[in-house]
Amino acid sequence: MNLPCDDASSGWYRILPEPSPPLELTQDIKADFAVVGAGFAGLSAARQLALNHPEAVVILIDAQSVGEGASGRNSGFAIDLPHKFALENPDKQFKQRLLRLNRSAIEQLDLLVKQFKIDCYWSAAGKYQGAVGERGQVFLSHFANLMDQLGEPYEWVKGEQLDSVLGTSYYREAIYTPGGYLMQPAALVRGLARHLPENVRLFENSPVLEWGQEPTKGCFLRTAKAKVLTDKLIFTTSIYTREFGFLKNRLLPIATFASLTRPLNEAEQATFTGQYNWGLTPADHAGTTLRMTADKRIIVRNTYRYAPRYGKSISQSERDKIARSHAQSFLRRYPQFGHVPFEYTWGGTYAISRNFTNFFGQLAPNVYASACDNGVGVTWGTISGRLLADLACGKNSDLLADIQAVTGMPSLNPPEPLSAWGARSRIFLAARQSQGEL
Ligand SMILES: Cc1cc2nc3c(=O)[nH]c(=O)nc-3n(C[C@H](O)[C@H](O)[C@H](O)COP(=O)(O)OP(=O)(O)OC[C@H]3O[C@@H](n4cnc5c(N)ncnc54)[C@H](O)[C@@H]3O)c2cc1C
Repeated sequence: MNLPCDDASSGWYRILPEPSPPLELTQDIKADFAVVGAGFAGLSAARQLALNHPEAVVILIDAQSVGEGASGRNSGFAIDLPHKFALENPDKQFKQRLLRLNRSAIEQLDLLVKQFKIDCYWSAAGKYQGAVGERGQVFLSHFANLMDQLGEPYEWVKGEQLDSVLGTSYYREAIYTPGGYLMQPAALVRGLARHLPENVRLFENSPVLEWGQEPTKGCFLRTAKAKVLTDKLIFTTSIYTREFGFLKNRLLPIATFASLTRPLNEAEQATFTGQYNWGLTPADHAGTTLRMTADKRIIVRNTYRYAPRYGKSISQSERDKIARSHAQSFLRRYPQFGHVPFEYTWGGTYAISRNFTNFFGQLAPNVYASACDNGVGVTWGTISGRLLADLACGKNSDLLADIQAVTGMPSLNPPEPLSAWGARSRIFLAARQSQGEL
């Protein structure tokens, strides 16, 4: 089994204080519910199971520390709008359902951040989608049409108005949508983990090596040191779900990369002509995501790789090469900050499917999963985790009907090496076509 193996250089995680030592699973244990994977989906599922059944024992278990997985190492956008590919769906009701689900996730996160005073720079900053050149502009116009059809608000921002937000005239134009939130993702997931209901027991650094079903006792999980017996089992393991034998040839492991600077110092701030606390995603999805954080750091994210062995697929020299290309993207936008170093460069892996369909539901008797968010898992993980818990508890709702209507079966991939060849070729082609947007 290939286990998660993320690099230890995620800036979001490293700039936080060291967490208290994680509790590892070292003794056999019996649970009513066991959730594998403590990202946005698993944290949300465990919380909801515990709230649905306050008397139940809920176990949440992760191979790594909370915040080290993709949920803690992303770009920190909680996005309300359907993903680009879902936006292309001609069925308006499908998109309205996705909007309701994503907005419900944002509401849930907003409530929790406020209730537990989670210090993660959570803010209703909205989102810019930016075009550098003509190719990006074509994508932006298309996006504006889709927003018109959906009846969603947006604003064109260009020229001096845009420069005065971003502090650079590198972008030709952008579309601002107001519904998204920004945050420090590692701080958010660690905060969510610290404030789980009392009947959730969280075990970190405890990779699950095997799962199975026992004729009378439900399901079991095995780690190197202990065994868990559980009535119901929930996999919120994103791309790693295939390692447990499910959705095996249906998920594609994609890695993408980010770099984070140190905070701008006072002299640098004096020369910066933009604002703080905004986020921009590329109009052309193979372009560059850019954020100026509330604590005055700049984050650059671009580059995709096919990552069949997850973190192990990316060597240090490959990461160094990507860091150099991030530095070029940064310099093109902020030549005056050429001396400001990236303190951290890291990668993370998530799941996409060829038909851009997310899996949500039951995999086997008493076994459930949410897997494959196509790279926008902050809101999707949050809402799918919560509703998966409801499904496992037999609790119906309009939102559950929504999620069941918009999910399905990710399509089958061709056998290897065709699959890898296809994914790598598409990534290569997209990177070439989008060169000007990087
Ligand atoms: C650089 C980058 C930028 C991104 N930017 C954004 C963004 O701005 N907004 C957005 O919405 N999405 C973004 N994404 C995607 C997003 O991070 C993921 O979609 C999201 O984290 C998925 O959440 P999840 O809870 O489903 O899965 P994950 O966060 O992947 O959690 C799965 C967990 O399962 C655990 N696990 C796996 N196997 C085992 C095992 N055998 N035993 C125990 N535990 C196991 C893993 O350790 C992991 O913690 C980005 C991703 C990256 C890499």
